[in-house]
Amino acid sequence: MPERVAILGAGIMGCCLALEFARRGCKVTMFDEQSAPMECASRWNEGKLHLGYLYANDPGLATARHVLPGTLLFLPIMREWIGEAIDTAISRSDDLYLVSRESVVGAEAAVAYFERVTALARDMPGCVHYPGDLSRAAVRQASRAELENHSNSDDIVAGYYLPERSVQTRWVAERLAERVSQDPAIELQMCQRVEAVEAGKTAHDPWSVRTSAASNGAEATRETYDVVLNALWQGRIAIDRTAGIAAPAECSNRFRVSAFVRTSKPLPVPSAIICVGPFGDMKNYNGRDFYLSWYPTGLLVDTKAAVPGPAPRIDGDIEAAALRGIRQHLVPRLPGAKQVLEAAEQLEIGGGWVFAEASGVLIDPASTLHRRDRYSVSRVGNYLSVDTGKYSTAPHMAREIVSTLMD
Ligand SMILES: Cc1cc2nc3c(=O)[nH]c(=O)nc-3n(C[C@H](O)[C@H](O)[C@H](O)COP(=O)(O)OP(=O)(O)OC[C@H]3O[C@@H](n4cnc5c(N)ncnc54)[C@H](O)[C@@H]3O)c2cc1C
Repeated sequence: MPERVAILGAGIMGCCLALEFARRGCKVTMFDEQSAPMECASRWNEGKLHLGYLYANDPGLATARHVLPGTLLFLPIMREWIGEAIDTAISRSDDLYLVSRESVVGAEAAVAYFERVTALARDMPGCVHYPGDLSRAAVRQASRAELENHSNSDDIVAGYYLPERSVQTRWVAERLAERVSQDPAIELQMCQRVEAVEAGKTAHDPWSVRTSAASNGAEATRETYDVVLNALWQGRIAIDRTAGIAAPAECSNRFRVSAFVRTSKPLPVPSAIICVGPFGDMKNYNGRDFYLSWYPTGLLVDTKAAVPGPAPRIDGDIEAAALRGIRQHLVPRLPGAKQVLEAAEQLEIGGGWVFAEASGVLIDPASTLHRRDRYSVSRVGNYLSVDTGKYSTAPHMAREIVSTLMD
């Protein structure tokens, strides 16, 4: 049973792991190169609570089966950590999935897939925990009038309302960061770049963590830890190598930016997503907080390298290009996005890395990006490397990992 635990990375995975260990009486040290927790991908994403609908090009349902059990427990677990108020940060209506003319899956195959995912979700014991309760969930085809009202683009061939919701990730980031900062069993080591880990005599002995502060000679940590968990996301594989874990055969590291908007007045526009091949979306969380993205122009880096270079600095040029992309490509397909931009009183362009053990590009039906059923944990002795995979499954995955180590 571990007493001293090191967690590398203070995103949603690192924070949930830290809270789980702390609750069970462990002393936790969490390392991150940022100055505060929850500053990277876990802050700047759309927060889709994935039921699997987006993976219509995985007709065997492997992705849906992989994500469903964890996603269904996102809300109950997060309520434990940050309180019932999280319910106010969840989008309030079903997503409108719009099938593009150039989609890698045609409308007929897409709706058949949506029906099967819905049936799968309805039969899961945790379905009542999902916002809106999925026990009687159904797919509803958008009428012609609804399609014309919300899209009216030649690019869109059909639309379906699906019972999928999203959470406002910046809201969650603030609360989760505060929660880990206030827990007396969690020591935060921020502004520390992790450079390597080292086992004792064997991988089953305590491990140590080398950080940039240590290699600069300042405050070298001599601590050892009964268990080290690597939750560094795009930074994970570089440290795995120092632990003797080889990089996966296929890696995709993409850095994406999107617009996070608060409007001066409530707008009745839908949460809608254009899928998939051409990919973009508009998320309406509560009438005034919105997420807008157009994937091809928001994609700043797309590399097969297992260890990507530094994140791009989001300067004025990048912000302007991201907004231009949204105006040129998302707005003609989703006119509601124009209303959002016109009523904006706050607008931030933010982004993060998306790591996947996959290859190819979304517009290619053969790309393995269309499946996300392989993310999991690798282990050597007391060192565990965690591929978070999805934000929505992270709290449950963290709970499972801690149970395996403690029970
Ligand atoms: C635009 C976008 C949209 C997305 N949409 C969704 C969605 O709708 N639903 C969903 O489920 N998922 C979504 N994702 C994926 C989701 O954001 C990630 O799966 C999740 O946030 C990863 O969590 P994490 O804790 O592993 O990583 P992060 O939140 O990135 O945390 C990793 C931490 O490690 C730190 N770090 C990395 N390397 C080092 C190092 N060497 N030394 C010290 N610190 C280091 C970083 O500073 C960071 O704080 C999206 C991602 C993006 C970018």
